[in-house]
Amino acid sequence: PPHGGFANEPLTDFAIAENREAMLAALAQVEEQLGGEYSLVINGRSVQPNLNLVSRDPADGVTIIGKAPAATPRDAADAVDAAKKAFPGWMRTGAQHRCEYLELAAEGMKHRRFELAAWIVREVGKPWGEADADVAEAIDFLNYYAQQMRTLAEGRVVDVPGEHNVLSYRPRGVAVVIAPWNFPLAILTGMTAAALATGNTVVMKPAEQSPVVGALLMDVLRDAGIPDGVVNYLPGDGELIGPPLVTNPDVSIVAFTGSREVGLAINAEAAKTPAGQDHVKTVIAEMGGKNAILVDNDADLDEAVLGVLHSAFDYAGQKCSACSRAIVLSEAYDDFMKRLKGAVASLQVGLPKDPGTQVGPVIDATSQARIAKALKNLGEEVELAATVEPGADVPAKGHYVNPQVYAGVSQDDPLANEELFGPVLAVIKVKTFAEAIEKANATDYALTAGVFSRSPENLATARRELIAGNIYLNRGCTGALVNRQPFGGFKLSGVGSKAGGPDYLLQFLVPVNVTENT
Ligand code: GLU
Repeated sequence: PPHGGFANEPLTDFAIAENREAMLAALAQVEEQLGGEYSLVINGRSVQPNLNLVSRDPADGVTIIGKAPAATPRDAADAVDAAKKAFPGWMRTGAQHRCEYLELAAEGMKHRRFELAAWIVREVGKPWGEADADVAEAIDFLNYYAQQMRTLAEGRVVDVPGEHNVLSYRPRGVAVVIAPWNFPLAILTGMTAAALATGNTVVMKPAEQSPVVGALLMDVLRDAGIPDGVVNYLPGDGELIGPPLVTNPDVSIVAFTGSREVGLAINAEAAKTPAGQDHVKTVIAEMGGKNAILVDNDADLDEAVLGVLHSAFDYAGQKCSACSRAIVLSEAYDDFMKRLKGAVASLQVGLPKDPGTQVGPVIDATSQARIAKALKNLGEEVELAATVEPGADVPAKGHYVNPQVYAGVSQDDPLANEELFGPVLAVIKVKTFAEAIEKANATDYALTAGVFSRSPENLATARRELIAGNIYLNRGCTGALVNRQPFGGFKLSGVGSKAGGPDYLLQFLVPVNVTENT
């Protein structure tokens, strides 16, 4: 494979009958296992203090996907303790061995690929292709961080006459991983794999909405033979167990992906040094975005419409990379809007488990209500320019939000500033490319941005001037691949470096230099 031993896991082609059948079979199998009971895993022991975390199918709001415990602050302390005790042993397990465990876990996921995807479809409402990509990305993170760690483990030698210097890396200690539901496998796996490859031990907290997929990851890691206590599984209510985890003096790293509000609170809490803590905590926080795609006067509009459509509405816009603003130059505007309207009208909004579905529900009632509220009092000049209704088979209690495009939005409108995390696109019309760039940059976030243009000069300006961690020229702004598009932003989008990129692991390590006088 290219790039020194790493190749991205290919996506499943569901146009092939065999793959379609495998996915249908996996969905049928999952259907039979719905409503199962799950446990915390602390030091290899399954613990079930209660079953207060009930995960429901977002497509009907009713079907129970599984019941998991909501960990208590006491469980959180026990999990950190277990990770702390497992740390010396795991640190001394050489990097090569640790990486082999991760690669075994990647193999395990490959074997369970359709099963894992089927659970993602049911638990968080991802359509097939998106669920499959989630599993592929999880496999990529395991393999990529293993490969990166092998390189880092070589250290760096500087020899001068009479002196031998070796710079090498050591793990920090216990890492708390707090993951979101929107990539319930990939992101939880990514942060966990990075911590493990580098020799840290982990307390893994999945989102409240996706404890079952998290439990499957725990299963995969145990099957790979990772020793007890090295990874502990702690589903629970973030408000209850987040603070005791983040402030625990035995925690060295908090790796978080989620909302800005929670990320900033974690950053503030982790900055304190409680009694008994002998180190400064590292916070890796990947937060939201209010990402724009610019459509230039000379853009290929077929491409631009598709790029915007997928970036805005795939997985119902529930990606921090999603496009929530289209900034369109005035000469292209009418034509672009006409085509976008047609494209939106033809979106298949339906049940995620149906192979033809392009847009499913949003995650839960809270999310649905938040989006509805934001769309209530829009400014007078804002108008609904395109939308589509779900298919007739969608259950009334499902958490569906119609995909919607709003025109006449100005950069001051809340619609152009607040991350909604739903299938809502604001269109902003501008006169010049310079104005488009200025508007694109006029947010607190800096995660992704896209440009459709045929002008080499404007593309060069965009490369230079757009303020975003991931800039995409003539393509949509979602779907970063591990290694190819290291992913992550700055400003209020993130304090961490790039997931799936060459700098990521360094955050989990302390560099130590040893000099020998020879
Ligand atoms: N990495 C994903 C992408 O490029 C987004 C991750 C997220 O939403 O947190 O689309």
